[in-house]
Amino acid sequence: MIEAIVLDWAGTTVDYGSRAPIIAFKNAFAHFSIDLSEATIRQDIGLDKMTHVRKLLQEPEISGSWEANHPTIPLTHAAEKIYAQFQLEINKVLVATADLKPGVTDLVRFANSHHIQLATTTGYTQAMLDQILPLAAEQGYNPAYNITSEQTNHVGRPKSDMVDLAMKKMEISDPTHVIKVGDTVNDVLEGKNAGVISIGVAEGGNLIGLSQQAFDQLTVEERARYRIKAAAILKEAGADEIINNLTDLIPLIESLDDQQHKVPLLLTPGPLTTSQTVKETMLVDHGTWDDDYKALTQWVRHELVAIGNASEEDYTAVLMQGSGSFGVEAAIGTAVPKKDATLLIAANGAYGDRMIEIAEYLAIPHVVLQVPEDQVITLAAVEEVLAAHPEITHFAVVHCETTTGILNPIETIIPALATKGIITLVDAMSSFGGIPIDLEQLHVDYLITSSNKCMQGVPGFSIVLAKKHTLLKTKENARSLALDLYAQYQTFEKSEGKWRFTSPTHVVYAFAEALRELDQEGGVSVRTHRYQTNETLLREGMQDLGYKLVIDESVQSPIITSFKFPTTDFDFRAFYDYLKDRRFIIYPGKVSKCDSFRIGNIGEVSAEDIHHLLDLIKTYTKETLQLPVGN
Ligand SMILES: *Cc1c(COP(=O)(O)O)cnc(C)c1O
Repeated sequence: MIEAIVLDWAGTTVDYGSRAPIIAFKNAFAHFSIDLSEATIRQDIGLDKMTHVRKLLQEPEISGSWEANHPTIPLTHAAEKIYAQFQLEINKVLVATADLKPGVTDLVRFANSHHIQLATTTGYTQAMLDQILPLAAEQGYNPAYNITSEQTNHVGRPKSDMVDLAMKKMEISDPTHVIKVGDTVNDVLEGKNAGVISIGVAEGGNLIGLSQQAFDQLTVEERARYRIKAAAILKEAGADEIINNLTDLIPLIESLDDQQHKVPLLLTPGPLTTSQTVKETMLVDHGTWDDDYKALTQWVRHELVAIGNASEEDYTAVLMQGSGSFGVEAAIGTAVPKKDATLLIAANGAYGDRMIEIAEYLAIPHVVLQVPEDQVITLAAVEEVLAAHPEITHFAVVHCETTTGILNPIETIIPALATKGIITLVDAMSSFGGIPIDLEQLHVDYLITSSNKCMQGVPGFSIVLAKKHTLLKTKENARSLALDLYAQYQTFEKSEGKWRFTSPTHVVYAFAEALRELDQEGGVSVRTHRYQTNETLLREGMQDLGYKLVIDESVQSPIITSFKFPTTDFDFRAFYDYLKDRRFIIYPGKVSKCDSFRIGNIGEVSAEDIHHLLDLIKTYTKETLQLPVGN
């Protein structure tokens, strides 16, 4: 949703062709017998004016001319003198060039009817702007916030400070909801630096530099040539879009709003919302035998071990085609020997139950520790089963049980079992990358995750982080050809990153991009903090609306949160559809003992998204469910 437009003044909304500063600069320098060409002046237009004067004086020809004409006045004083003269000159022309450019009033009308705020930034001083403001207001253009660099400690373009201040005044925090429009390279850079959508205006701007009359007199071809040239320069500076005039901004905003509306936001625990850049990585095809691809696979494996805080001497990452369950099945089916082994599975949700099913399918002797879904698995409970079953050699547990969002305390259970010589497997599918996990400290033998959960890639492969020492002893254990973890590992090692069978190339490229983005975000701890912020906002916001939690806060993970149905006749489908129509995709509940639904906090999801969701749920709860929602 576009919430605000930040507009430049001269050349963008007033002063067609950005004539005023040009005339004033020319006259100010002429006052000191220095002749400046328009082209020279236009090079740095958009800067604040004092900086601009100084920059012009750095050109050898201009400084030489000053020294020749004013041998008694040192160059260090020249800038102040010329700037003082510039102020006199600009005052003479500002009023004459304050006519609104075509399209401004249409844009104002559109903005008002769409609750879009208007602000401005400028290279003019406050004194200059004060002359234009009343004239613009008379013509129907009266933006709420007008920023000059005097309000930002004289930090002007191309820095983002003026746009940042405008956003602060408008109380907008998400720069992707803001458009900056201007006609100069410095305008475009200001927008880019602020992270907003930066749009360049070609017609009537500084880069064409002609008055409206002069431009209108050109032939169609000449006008097109001017536009294309200006557009190319603005594009080169990094403009996200180029428009000819401000009227063109209206359909552009409508299409941006459409795009932002239509793209669903998955508040689900995988697949989840990935970044645009991760998605775009998949637009190229790659061969599996290719050396670059093999090197990329090796890099991915290397990074995964590093994210687990482990050394490659002790641990390795084995990638396995398929969804997360393929990795769990490969790990269980390969880890447990065919003879003299028994697996203990501790389960407090659907994913624990899935491991039991796997053991049944593979005919692996197993013992089950069943714990209620709203309670964590404790070391004491595990030790009790171990004492009763000395035949147990292997142990499997889920870290974050995505069924409820409950977090099992693997950091107390796993090291204790490792000391007893038990081989451990942890399904950390929905936690690895989203919660810090230290493989070396855990002494875990196998930890399983997937490309499409907290690592924020797309679905396509699972990941088994295995203790090398343990994995190397599993030759010929596998009950399946395709899911033989040992054979997969050997192939990666022997052929330096070649997968055993056809691999999901696009997914691997997307995953590599996701890894880079995890690093850019600041690593796992920063990501955990973002997820935790989302979770806290969601949980507290929902409780304020009267919704009840399925599990206790003390055992709640930052990953996904479960809520009980607010009434016995609650229609989840209708609730789901209401949110889906407004682009939010949530998840049905999975707990057996009560009716519930779940909302994920992971993926490319911000606090702002959670606020929007809560607003929608508030409206639905109040108006459709007719329930009290507090204040
Ligand atoms: C997502 C998930 C899995 C794997 O499910 P798939 O549908 O096979 O990707 C396994 N365990 C947990 C805890 C999960 O969250």
